[in-house]
Amino acid sequence: MKREVVARIRLDALRHNLAVVRKHCAASGNHSRVIAMVKADAYGHGLLPVARALGDADMLGVAVLEEALELRAGGIATPLVIMEGIFSADELRTAASEGFAIVVHQQEQIEMLRATGLPQRLPVWVKLDTGMHRLGLQVDVAAAALPDLRKTSATLGVMSHFACADEPGCAMTRKQLATLLAFAQAHELPASAANSGAIVDMPAAHLDVVRPGIMLYGAAPTRGTEASDVELQPAMTLTARVLAIKAVPDGDSVGYGAAWIARRDSRIGVIGIGYGDGYPRHAASGTPVCIPGADNRHGANALVPLAGRVSMDMITVDLSDRPDVRVGDLAVLWGDGLPADVVARHADTISYELFCRLTSRVRFEYVD
Ligand SMILES: *Cc1c(COP(=O)(O)O)cnc(C)c1O
Repeated sequence: MKREVVARIRLDALRHNLAVVRKHCAASGNHSRVIAMVKADAYGHGLLPVARALGDADMLGVAVLEEALELRAGGIATPLVIMEGIFSADELRTAASEGFAIVVHQQEQIEMLRATGLPQRLPVWVKLDTGMHRLGLQVDVAAAALPDLRKTSATLGVMSHFACADEPGCAMTRKQLATLLAFAQAHELPASAANSGAIVDMPAAHLDVVRPGIMLYGAAPTRGTEASDVELQPAMTLTARVLAIKAVPDGDSVGYGAAWIARRDSRIGVIGIGYGDGYPRHAASGTPVCIPGADNRHGANALVPLAGRVSMDMITVDLSDRPDVRVGDLAVLWGDGLPADVVARHADTISYELFCRLTSRVRFEYVD
């Protein structure tokens, strides 16, 4: 046995989840083009292998120029969109010569476009702030900037981002969409609004281009839904090994802070993964871990509860009801048999963060 944490990435699951996106956009009649979001190392799944697997996407979305350059250097030919845009004239020239599409969300970027006479046609998405108040131009500012933008070499579209797309039926999302639509129609621009939550839950938001992220990786796009309810398959399965098993007498504690106390004579399993690998330290006692064990159990029968605080290199689980588990057995922290969303809820976070926080100690394995 080896103390090894492995993130197994199923490329077929990525492709399947992209097909689910297409299915939603066909059902709404929009047949929207798809920007597959691969920012932040493809949500921690590995930028290049994921980009290759998602070759069927119309475009790939990254946050920053460096990520786009990494994709090109890795031989990815899919059109790329830089969501935070460019932050200097140098970056603008690089983006233009590489043929990247950029998002323009503030006046400084418009000034750069005007000042840098570019020879190439440059696809530009004007980002509207429709209420989230993060990135984006206010509607009146964007409208005032359009004549100037039309004089540059930009080919224009308009986009916005929803604050609450993960809450089905949210009134704010409808209002944001109405603002974007009014702008797109008034100025006859192609429009993009939907992230995963809106792709699944708000067909009216599909428009010309959709921007799925988390659903491609197979996690739930809206609160209160399981990924499997919407036919998504987890792309990542994170595994580690049971390193040791020990008897803990009734009344004794386990781990840092002596925070977990045995209520009976207990059997405690030590698993070789901790926050040093990216397992969330805030996962509370009771967070499920999936151990199929010698009985090769499935579903709820395979789950055991975390017992005590997460350490840097280890977690401890209560195996008192699992005499079949042996040292060396495989534990699934999330993925097949245990949705990342469930673990995220127990750790007071979201699946996105779990995926993004894996450390260099994790070995990635890609399977078709
Ligand atoms: C990351 C991102 C998305 C994808 O969001 P998900 O909730 O992961 O689907 C869409 N649009 C923009 C601008 C983003 O930055």
